[in-house]
Amino acid sequence: MEKFDVVIVGARCAGSATARLLAQGGMRVLLVDRATFPSDTVSTHSMAFHGSHLLQRWGLFERVVAAGTPNTHEATLRLGDIRLDRFPAPATSPGWIAPRRTVLDHMLAEDAQQCGATLWDNTTVSGVLGGERVAGVTVRRADGTSADVAADLVVGADGVFSRVARAVKAATLDERSSAMTGSYAYFSGTGLDHNRLVLADQRAVLVFPTNDDLACIAVGSHHDDDFAGTHDEAFAAAARTLTPEVADAIGAGRRETRYTVFKPQPSRVVTSHGPGWALVGDAGLYMDPVTGQGIGNAFLGAQLLADTVLSGHDLGEYQARRDELLQDMFEITAAVSRMEWTNDEVAGEFMRFRAAAEATLAEVSRLWTNDLPSTAHAARV
Ligand SMILES: Cc1cc2nc3c(=O)[nH]c(=O)nc-3n(C[C@H](O)[C@H](O)[C@H](O)COP(=O)(O)OP(=O)(O)OC[C@H]3O[C@@H](n4cnc5c(N)ncnc54)[C@H](O)[C@@H]3O)c2cc1C
Repeated sequence: MEKFDVVIVGARCAGSATARLLAQGGMRVLLVDRATFPSDTVSTHSMAFHGSHLLQRWGLFERVVAAGTPNTHEATLRLGDIRLDRFPAPATSPGWIAPRRTVLDHMLAEDAQQCGATLWDNTTVSGVLGGERVAGVTVRRADGTSADVAADLVVGADGVFSRVARAVKAATLDERSSAMTGSYAYFSGTGLDHNRLVLADQRAVLVFPTNDDLACIAVGSHHDDDFAGTHDEAFAAAARTLTPEVADAIGAGRRETRYTVFKPQPSRVVTSHGPGWALVGDAGLYMDPVTGQGIGNAFLGAQLLADTVLSGHDLGEYQARRDELLQDMFEITAAVSRMEWTNDEVAGEFMRFRAAAEATLAEVSRLWTNDLPSTAHAARV
């Protein structure tokens, strides 16, 4: 049976980032994903400030921008009846980016391989090996053949519906319902060249300029009636009521993709370590997308998990530090995603969000400057 130090299931934000760090630290890492790359996934992609910081630390922020990802430094906000033009990104942040997942995830998977990890794409993990202690995985290849792979550590970076989490019976520690349903699509020719966020009338409109001169535009609501007709009608109605300039921009532009519809998923914290296994990214901690933290949190989890493994510390330390760092944002995200706020309350919610985002950026910048990561290889997992 083939043997690796670590098998990581899922090769997007959480998995590839963890793989690059562990491989750089000298570990023999196998990254497995049923997808092939480049490929898209259901996600808008505005990156949290702490995510941009870590991406820059890994030498990838500039590469993402060089791949044609707009980097904007300000946003237009409408929060209830308050409008804020030219609202700046924090001075310490490298900027606001929203790279298409086709671009970002492909770059992360390639980077992991350049750092020494092995990628088996088009390969599904169908089971986890071992008894009390996880000892590897069973993989099923595209040609229908299966194989067992042994590992000292199996990392589930396989998203919110994680098979690894189910296999190890990872307990849910905290769960908060969300009420936000919505859809997004990509538009050309809108002239929308910086981020816009509208939270009003218990609805959300988000605009992110992205690769290929497109704008990603999302509408979220907890009013089911909003999506009773076509998505074009829902978009036009929400944009017209909430932000006429975005409605005009949509009217002037052209929709280049189909709408991707998303339904509410509870925000959740799951036990993220056990004998021979760990969970990272959405598999271990999922936040509703309304605050756009998932990609940055996946990077943060990857850095924390890799540091813990490479320093030989107990994996409980990884989870404790992750949950402490993200607790405030988890609470705020859960509150906003219930979509029960009034127009009078929403500016206050946003300011709490912004304070938590700046605090996370400050702490992540303090913990991980641009020093080279540790190369110790002393896994005690
Ligand atoms: C509608 C929506 C909008 C969002 N908008 C934003 C946003 O603006 N900003 C932001 O930061 N976050 C956003 N998010 C959240 C973000 O998408 C996630 O937090 C992020 O993708 C988590 O990365 P991950 O690597 O943990 O998981 P994923 O990106 O879900 O990757 C998991 C990978 O695991 C693979 N996999 C799963 N099971 C198996 C298996 N058995 N065998 C092999 N491979 C497997 C999958 O193929 C996939 O490639 C949004 C999410 C949604 C749903």
